[in-house]
Amino acid sequence: MKMMNFIPIRTTTVRAFQEGVNDSHGNAPEVRISDGGGLPCRHCLDYIPEGEEYLILSHKPFSSTQPYAEQGPIFLHKKACKSYENRSILPKICDPKGQLLIRGYSADERIVYGTGKVVQNYQIETEAQKILNQQDVAYIHVRSASNNCYQFRIEQDEK
Ligand SMILES: [Zn+2]
Repeated sequence: MKMMNFIPIRTTTVRAFQEGVNDSHGNAPEVRISDGGGLPCRHCLDYIPEGEEYLILSHKPFSSTQPYAEQGPIFLHKKACKSYENRSILPKICDPKGQLLIRGYSADERIVYGTGKVVQNYQIETEAQKILNQQDVAYIHVRSASNNCYQFRIEQDEK
């Protein structure tokens, strides 16, 4: 059986931001203190606890600059947190009561039209599987349903 994987932003990219490297807009990441209000780190895929430093920066989760390569705000731990490890398990930041936007992309990083959908988080694996089953979908982007901020991607072991 094909395994679904929940993939965070690559550690080398994250470490650069944590060391103060400019974001895709050329700005240094902003440093803030978490108020504990549900700020998901896109590297460890966990919430940033109250009192901990975190970064706000603009990130483009694509390898190219073609028209579909959206760029937008993300949060990261300021400290060198560990990359999300148990990639076959839905990350904690998917609060079962919440909603997320999922959308299929082709191998050349373009939206596969008709796949985008806001889903209840408890249904995310079922709905993601339906999208991944489509021939032309290479992976899924998971985004905030209300703010459109990039969260992580979903891939399959083999296709
Ligand atoms: Zn983190």
